[in-house]
Amino acid sequence: MGRAAAPTFPMPGAASLWAETALPLDGAGPLIGDAEADVVIVGAGYTGLSAARRFAERGLRPIVIDASTVGWGASGRNGGVVSTKYRVSMPAVARSHGLETARRMYRIGHEAVDAVEETVETLAIEGADLQICGNLRCAHNGVALAALTAEAAVMRDSFGDTAIRILDATDTAAETGSRDFVGGVLTPHSGLIHPLNYARGMARALLARGVAVHGQTPALRLRPEGAGVVVETPTGRIRAPRVVLATNGYSDLTLATQGVRRTLIPFRSAMVASEPLLPAVRATLMRERRSYSETRRMMRWFRPHGDRMIFGGRGAFGKSDSGAAFAALERALRQLFPQLEGAAITHRWSGLVAMTLASVPHVGRLDERVSYALGYNGTGIAMATLMGRHVADVALGEAPDLALMNAPTLRTVPFYAVREPAVRVVAGWYQFLDAAGR
Ligand SMILES: Cc1cc2nc3c(=O)[nH]c(=O)nc-3n(C[C@H](O)[C@H](O)[C@H](O)COP(=O)(O)OP(=O)(O)OC[C@H]3O[C@@H](n4cnc5c(N)ncnc54)[C@H](O)[C@@H]3O)c2cc1C
Repeated sequence: MGRAAAPTFPMPGAASLWAETALPLDGAGPLIGDAEADVVIVGAGYTGLSAARRFAERGLRPIVIDASTVGWGASGRNGGVVSTKYRVSMPAVARSHGLETARRMYRIGHEAVDAVEETVETLAIEGADLQICGNLRCAHNGVALAALTAEAAVMRDSFGDTAIRILDATDTAAETGSRDFVGGVLTPHSGLIHPLNYARGMARALLARGVAVHGQTPALRLRPEGAGVVVETPTGRIRAPRVVLATNGYSDLTLATQGVRRTLIPFRSAMVASEPLLPAVRATLMRERRSYSETRRMMRWFRPHGDRMIFGGRGAFGKSDSGAAFAALERALRQLFPQLEGAAITHRWSGLVAMTLASVPHVGRLDERVSYALGYNGTGIAMATLMGRHVADVALGEAPDLALMNAPTLRTVPFYAVREPAVRVVAGWYQFLDAAGR
């Protein structure tokens, strides 16, 4: 399956607020030498860790390996918004695939949030700080509010989602502390979490039940051998009948994941955190302490964490962090919240999300031995927790009802070689339309 690349590991970590505030994780050091397992899971984010838990519960012996550390990928860097949502809306899915499929997708979204609650509770994850506090989606203009309101009506009438509430401009301003929005839609079945504590807590629980979790252990290459697979690492080989690829936006680190990487478009997403805010400023912001997102094409979102505001967004970010990209994010923050003019930004970080052509995650098998769950399109805390479980079942030959996420074959991204500049051009155009108020 190709020649092994030789990247340098471990890779530098993100200077995130989460990395600074997370509880330490012991016992996940590198694997030295050879090993055998029932399944090798490549990637120690939510997908890989959740899959490992499922395999262990089914009596199998998984080994989880990560090129860097547990939660080093998006799972340790995200905004911590636990959401039922996909990148596509359910009315759009109903139009293109029928109401029954859309209803199944909707239920899966809710099962995903339930899976996070169950995981935190059952594994007693310390510091996860999970709160089901709701998400307020804020409309940046009248057209966007009309679209949100129409979508809410369909969700109520065709999906039975009676909990959704519509807020007017006054209530949205009072709740968020920003006068920039003309209204919003409140979805109660969403939450907030400390993302890295969640990932590390899952790994800690696995280690406690004897499951091997190894950081600084990149899979360099997969090689078929007999009825199984050999996973080559820098210091040895792991033999197993099956492998699960759980590498999402980081699927091009080595040749081991070449079977999936061309099906994904990695997209950089960035976040900043303010210093702890003065009580008088804090009192004007995020009154209900939920997560908040907005309707611009290059969506921004914000949430509280302790006394701070965390603010994130996607943009025309390049291959790596750039000062200009963070400066643009900070300008957007201060534009939405003039009361933060004097507040310092103490943390800036970014990570990769994985977009798919279908805008939904993909779960399936490359062949009898190699399975995958990836492509969360930027909303993967809940979905990766749930799809991790399902990919374990898929790897064992079962066929759970995953509606559009069931991807027995993967579509390759056209013009793959130019995907990064192309993403930047599209993102730049979207930013222009947003800036023009369209
Ligand atoms: C800045 C940002 C903000 C986000 N905000 C939110 C949010 O608020 N809510 C939400 O729901 N989602 C959010 N997301 C998306 C969410 O974080 C991801 O969908 C989710 O974490 C994906 O989890 P994963 O386990 O599939 O992949 P990841 O957590 O990305 O893990 C993949 C792992 O694979 C490892 N790896 C790759 N190649 C190899 C190899 N060859 N050998 C060994 N290991 C390898 C990497 O080191 C990495 O640790 C955000 C993402 C980012 C980047």
